[in-house]
Amino acid sequence: MKQTRRKFIKSGIVLSSGIALSNSTAASILSTKAKDQKSSFPIAISTWSHGVPATKAAYDYLSNGKNILDAIETGIHTAESNPEIMSVGYGGFPDAEGNVTLDASIMDKNGNAGSVAYLKNIKHPISVARLVMEKTDHVMLVGEGAKQFALSHGFKEENLLSDAAKADWLRWKHEQEIDSSENHDTIGLLAIDKDGNISGGVSTSGAAYKLPGRVGDSPIIGAALYVDNEIGAACATGLGELVMESVSSFLVVEKMREGYSPTEACEIAIQRIYKRIENKENKNQVGLIAINKNGEYGGFSLSKGFDFGIANSSENRLLKTDHL
Ligand code: ASP
Repeated sequence: MKQTRRKFIKSGIVLSSGIALSNSTAASILSTKAKDQKSSFPIAISTWSHGVPATKAAYDYLSNGKNILDAIETGIHTAESNPEIMSVGYGGFPDAEGNVTLDASIMDKNGNAGSVAYLKNIKHPISVARLVMEKTDHVMLVGEGAKQFALSHGFKEENLLSDAAKADWLRWKHEQEIDSSENHDTIGLLAIDKDGNISGGVSTSGAAYKLPGRVGDSPIIGAALYVDNEIGAACATGLGELVMESVSSFLVVEKMREGYSPTEACEIAIQRIYKRIENKENKNQVGLIAINKNGEYGGFSLSKGFDFGIANSSENRLLKTDHL
């Protein structure tokens, strides 16, 4: 009997708590999706409207047969370089003291990971995260150490506080008010290359006017980003504290392993976050996107207004997700 998506998720949660799904059950679940889209390879998906140019840049690399990590870096650079995107890289919202501090992470098809946190004055944290993954025995570098590491690899120090971000920060210092709908816009980009291999990356300036020293979910592997090349990948944007406490991207990938579609897995992870929120009236946002090994992709969010970009051989556009 055909189940509605919501009914299926309800019964699926019961199933997942006790019974491991057989491969054939998982396959039939994967074929019942209403919301998921499916794409040929290569494909890139990326959070928010800045995900449209980012996925285009990444797709162009992938379709030319270039390395998937180069594609991810190139896609994310489009947002990191753009001062009009006030949540990533140059021009990003500063912390409460006016310092722009950046977080980023990357994972490759082999499950290797690299990340940087609380990085100042370096415009492309995603590229530093990749170098941490490729050139060190570590996964994460933070603060001054991360900056020195970047400088030693040829990155240049630059002022990342744009005039517009400085003006907004000064206004905030005076009024102490922030429109929470404009306070979250991490770029997360997931891609599959022409051979079907998956990788992903995330980059952000974090929550606007955060407490100095605050690090969000973006550099935490499993929270804002997780890739398992056998199953799929997921990434997160929104209030990082909620994402960290629920290890959301890892959860999404594990739910896809159980046979849930990307959209369903994201919805389950959002429900998990919602269950833990004490004040249900609070309009916080978390957005999740995911892609599986078959090229099916989708997303889901806590509140209204989340969307993501997609680029493949036939389209480059913005898709809205459902929300709770
Ligand atoms: N997730 C980011 C953080 O909490 C914020 C965002 O998505 O813009 O640092």
